[in-house]
Parts: sequence; structure tokens; C-alpha cells
Amino acid sequence: MSDKVVTRFAPSPTGFLHIGGARTALFNWLYAKHSGGKMLLRIEDTDRERSTDAATAAILDGLSWLGLTWDGEPVSQFERAPRHRAVAEELVRLGKAYYCYATPAELEAMRESARAKGLPPRYDGRWRDRDLSEAPVGARGAIRIKAPADGETVVHDRVQGEVRFPNKDLDDFIILRSDGNPTYMHAVVVDDHDMGITHIIRGDDHLTNAARQMVIYRALGWEVPSMAHIPLIHGADGAKLSKRHGALGVEAYRAMGYLPEALLNYLARLGWSHGDDEVMSITDMVAWFDIGDVNKGAARFDFAKLEALNGVHMRRMNDAELLGIFINTLPYLEGGPAIAARLDDTRKAQLLAALPGLKERAKTLVELVDGAAFLFAERPLPIDEKAAALLGGEAREILRGAHAALKAISGDWTAAAAEAAIREYALAGGHKLGAVAQPLRAALTGKSTSPGVFDVLAVLGREESLARVADQID
Ligand code: GLU
Repeated sequence: MSDKVVTRFAPSPTGFLHIGGARTALFNWLYAKHSGGKMLLRIEDTDRERSTDAATAAILDGLSWLGLTWDGEPVSQFERAPRHRAVAEELVRLGKAYYCYATPAELEAMRESARAKGLPPRYDGRWRDRDLSEAPVGARGAIRIKAPADGETVVHDRVQGEVRFPNKDLDDFIILRSDGNPTYMHAVVVDDHDMGITHIIRGDDHLTNAARQMVIYRALGWEVPSMAHIPLIHGADGAKLSKRHGALGVEAYRAMGYLPEALLNYLARLGWSHGDDEVMSITDMVAWFDIGDVNKGAARFDFAKLEALNGVHMRRMNDAELLGIFINTLPYLEGGPAIAARLDDTRKAQLLAALPGLKERAKTLVELVDGAAFLFAERPLPIDEKAAALLGGEAREILRGAHAALKAISGDWTAAAAEAAIREYALAGGHKLGAVAQPLRAALTGKSTSPGVFDVLAVLGREESLARVADQID
């Protein structure tokens, strides 16, 4: 066996890639990248009733958007059912598992009597030592593993530490149902083994499964992978994460205008830290991540922190790169498709020029759409209420003078030239600079806030700027 790290992300395709799943995928991915290994993807579609192709597609799409790439083709667990069956039958041949023919009524009676004694429902092993010749004619038994009766099974977990399970609590559980289909418990073990998984990183809701899965590994004489059960994400109030807290599919975060890098940074920091570093690039995370540094305690999801972090990532990002992400995300953002439809080369160049000013005022790409709207607006511009207030009173007269001053610019139309012209005009007319700049902004953008007004003038260009101002004075 090579020592190369192989991790896997193993989602059940019963819904979108939710935020907890994304974090599990991230930790698997980071650990693989950090160790120069691989992350494989397995779609756990054994439950035919609940698995859908749409969910699989949404999971692949979510992972791709986040940049959490997997190695090789995704493996379908369902398609491996014949192999799961063969391994279960092999365990019977080895004397490590056996056919059980208990009827549903017998099993119900066992559960009843356990309940009456205040014990957890357990199978009593009634077929464990019986000879196959006693099998009822024509019946198809289920296959149960022979679990150890005494002692304990110890999970050496990289996050949870040593977790001990008394074997008397592990009954002879089913690995192959009487219809020939594997149970989830069994399929996971066979798949992880066959895929060469060296490290299992998953939610701590699977910790008790780990003990049962170890029973199967031992029976087969297979090496148990290194395990790390990471705490689940809770809401800011400490309760289990629900929709209200942000337990949404990752595509909802895309639509809210978060950058993949910022979301990954936020998710990585939920339960893992590297000194006091809050803002991390993907390269930083790959360099610094170690699964052993993940905390045991439940992490709390906080939208305000995510939003603030997103703003930091937007400002840190190089403008051309941010523009690329912005353009790719437009179809998913509210108000985005309208912008996308009008995005020609001129507007792209304008957007790039305006970006330094716009990103100072935006914490999400949705806010960026809002801030950039003035570039795409058609004349005469819709003027919002606050902007309209700035255009009342003597503002119109001031604007008339500003229009003339701008029109008189003879050299290149730049932010500096516009600023010089407006300052000179304000000084000459005894106006405060703000008394000129505010109505100018309102006329140029239809809003009361925008990037610096001289930058706006430069980005819009001479003709469009003068026309927008003229629209408000006639
Ligand atoms: N399919 C399981 C889930 O989505 C994960 C199983 C595992 O990682 O072993 O919760």
C-alpha cells in the first residue's frame, strides 16, 4: 500500500449540497491538497427512493462552483451493489457472517421485549450458530455480521480522540438485506476499501457508524482508514443548523453574492484555526490545514461574519479577477441578468475602471450589481427618492453651472480634469464642494451614494456624463 493520502467526499444525493456538506468536502479537499494526495467523489445513491439525478447534478455543480475539484470520475455506490453482495457472501464463507431468517414478526417481538426491559432494540443472534440446513425452504435470508460480544471497539479519531464503544452494544447487524441489496454500513466499508481511501473525514453524526464499520473491516482483515469526525455546524444561537440559520444549498450563497474563496475561508474557520489568521486565501488554507487541528466543539454559523469576510476578499482581490467572477456570477444574482444582457466590451471596460470605487462600498456581488447599476442605466435615468431630494431647491441652478463648467473642459476627459473644473466652478460661485458634488452624483447615477463623483464622470465618459446632467436641468 502506498502512503499517498486519498480522501473522499461521499454525499447522499437526496438534496442540494448544503453548507455542512460543503465544509466536509472542503476539509477532505484541503487535507488531500495539503498532503499532495487525492480527493475522490462517491455518490451514495444506494437509497433508490430518495436519490435523484437532479440532486447529484446540484452537488457536482456546487462543488465545481466552490472549486472543490475531485480526482477521477465520481463513483456511483448503487452501481457497485454486485461487489457489495459478493463481499457479504464471502464473509459468510469465511464464517464471519451468517444468513438470518428471522421473520418481521420475530424481529418485532425482539424489539418489544428489549423495550419492556428498558434496553436498546437489539438482534438476539438466534441464527448466529445455526446450521444452514435449518433454513426455511425457499426463504431468502439477510446476511448479518458476527459482531464481537465482549470487549470494546475503539475508534482512534483524529478529531474526537479515542472513542470507546462497548461491544455488547453492537449487535449482529445486517450487511446484506434479504432482497440482495447491501446496507449503507456495508457499502461504505467496501467502497472505501476498494477506492483505496486512507483518510475518512466526515460529520460526527457518523461516529457511531464508525464502530460498526470497524467490525466489518476487522472481519475482512482490511486495514481501517484513519478517521476524523468533524463537529456539525450549529446556528448562531447554538441550535442545530436549520434553514433559518443558513442551512441552505451552496447555490443560495452564490445567489447572495458570496465569492467561493470567501465562503471557503469562512467554512474552514468554522471549527479550524491557524493562529489568529482570519482572512486566508485558498493557497494559505492548503498550506496551513491539518485535520488534527479541527476542534471538537460544534461550530456556529454567523451570517454577519461571512458577509464581512466576503467584503474583505472582494477588496483584496485583483480587479480583473473580481470582474471575471462577477461576470460569471451575473446569471445567478438578482438584477444580474439585466446587466449581463447589456455587457459589451465598452461596458466591461467601464466596469473594470469603476471597480476600485465600487468594491469599497460592496460586501457582496449583489451589492456590486446595485452599485454598478448606474453604468447600465438608460437615459433619462430613474432617480431614487434620496437622489431626488438632492436635486431639489437651488440644486438645479448649481447643476446648470456645473454642466457648463464640465462642457468647457478642453483637454482629456479624466477624473482629475473634472475635479479641477468642478472645484474652480464651486469656488467662483461661492458653493461648498458638496453642494455641487451631491446633485451631480444624483444626476449621474440616480442615487445618493456611488463611487467618488469624479471617478463616475471619468468612467461614464464625456458625452454620457453631460447628457445625464442635462437631463436633470432641462
Ligand atoms: N453519505 C453520507 C452522508 O451524506 C456520508 C457517509 C460517509 O461519509 O461515510 O452523510
